[in-house]
Amino acid sequence: MTNKRDWEFSSLKKNGGQSTNENNPIHLENCPRGGNRCIDQRSEINKSIKSSHELFQDRQYNHSIDELKAAFHKTLDLQDSPCNQCANLFRHRILESMEQVNQELRKMTTGLFGSRRYKPSYQYAVLVMEELKQLNK
Ligand SMILES: [Zn+2]
Repeated sequence: MTNKRDWEFSSLKKNGGQSTNENNPIHLENCPRGGNRCIDQRSEINKSIKSSHELFQDRQYNHSIDELKAAFHKTLDLQDSPCNQCANLFRHRILESMEQVNQELRKMTTGLFGSRRYKPSYQYAVLVMEELKQLNK
């Protein structure tokens, strides 16, 4: 869809300086209603993605995953509305974030610096990812 990566999950980002708070993860793109119909959902979903990002950096991985899950469920409100396209875009972004969470947790549980401690969170991430992909069909 878009290659813009101004925002992503990474446990390494913390030292990278800037908080991503000033950027909304989801921008208004191609809304048939000029953003009016989906504005509430968009801002709620943006909020959830941001707080998920913060929770992740706080190492509250399960909560971080729950936020993404909640955000995903909010997009379902827009189904069968003119903003169906917007909902698809939102879901795409949420799944992208979920994918990043998955990858980060996988890195943290495997390899040289892998820790068993994060395994339950990784397993939870995999589970939720599957669940959301099912809903996205
Ligand atoms: Zn819309």
